[in-house]
Amino acid sequence: MLKIQLPSPIHPLKSPLLEQKGLRLLIKRDDLIHPIVSGNKWRKLQFNLEEAIRQGHSTVVSFGGAYSNHIHALAEAAPAYGLKAIGVIRGEAPTVYSSTLVFAQAKGMTLSFIDREHYKEKNSPIFIENLRAQYGPIYLIPEGGANANGAKGCEAIVQELPQDYDVVCVACGTGTTLAGMVNALPLGKKAIGFSALKGGAFLENDVSTLLTQPSLHWRIETQYSFGGYAKWTPELITFIAKFEEEHQVPLEHVYTGKLFYGLIELIKKDHFLPGTTIVAIHTGGLQGKITF
Ligand SMILES: *Cc1c(COP(=O)(O)O)cnc(C)c1O
Repeated sequence: MLKIQLPSPIHPLKSPLLEQKGLRLLIKRDDLIHPIVSGNKWRKLQFNLEEAIRQGHSTVVSFGGAYSNHIHALAEAAPAYGLKAIGVIRGEAPTVYSSTLVFAQAKGMTLSFIDREHYKEKNSPIFIENLRAQYGPIYLIPEGGANANGAKGCEAIVQELPQDYDVVCVACGTGTTLAGMVNALPLGKKAIGFSALKGGAFLENDVSTLLTQPSLHWRIETQYSFGGYAKWTPELITFIAKFEEEHQVPLEHVYTGKLFYGLIELIKKDHFLPGTTIVAIHTGGLQGKITF
């Protein structure tokens, strides 16, 4: 079994800006819940792996890119549950594997590379039928753990929070983590998602479909994606380096760097009333951190 350290630690961040604006900012360190299966990827896998076992499956299949935090987490977590994992990887098989793929393979994950055109069809009945023909009975976990079981696991993120906060902020890829958090959000609290992807209108729809009841207490910031998924600018990289030095908290450029960049921008623009307590969720993802 995996030794997951819950609840994840939470601690305040201090800075002249926060003092000047009269704000309290807490960071919840989901990056620290496990050395490998970190952050929201564990939260999203938990009920999926339990469901696979409950349904009597011995094999789980999921999807992702060559640097996917989700594939990385699944490669570690599935064998700990006695499950065999198959990773359907976007793109042709590379001549040199990314560290994520090297790790996944070493953990016994079977890697199946699918060119980008066909990968787009990964949720179609015919694609899934082909997977079943190839691998036999399989439990499917969508890319990024983006299903109701994934969202359910993320409810615990807000359930673990102390009561004295006003707003909780999180980075969004599929929006599953945000949806789970909104589903468990106590009355009077708000949630803001920071999109790591370009655009974000589709995200609002994706989040809505995972809500267990309609809610008006959340929204998505789409201004801080830095051009799209995994894209970055020197400004973002400089911000991350400064943040890490000031707070001794590691960030990466795909999700958490953009979250904190966007959040600090909102703070600078007086988006929050003085006296507001903000919680930012560190969703992990540091396995994919590259040094610039
Ligand atoms: C996957 C990931 C996210 C996005 O989570 P979603 O539930 O897909 O929105 C955010 N942060 C990190 C570090 C991630 O790895």
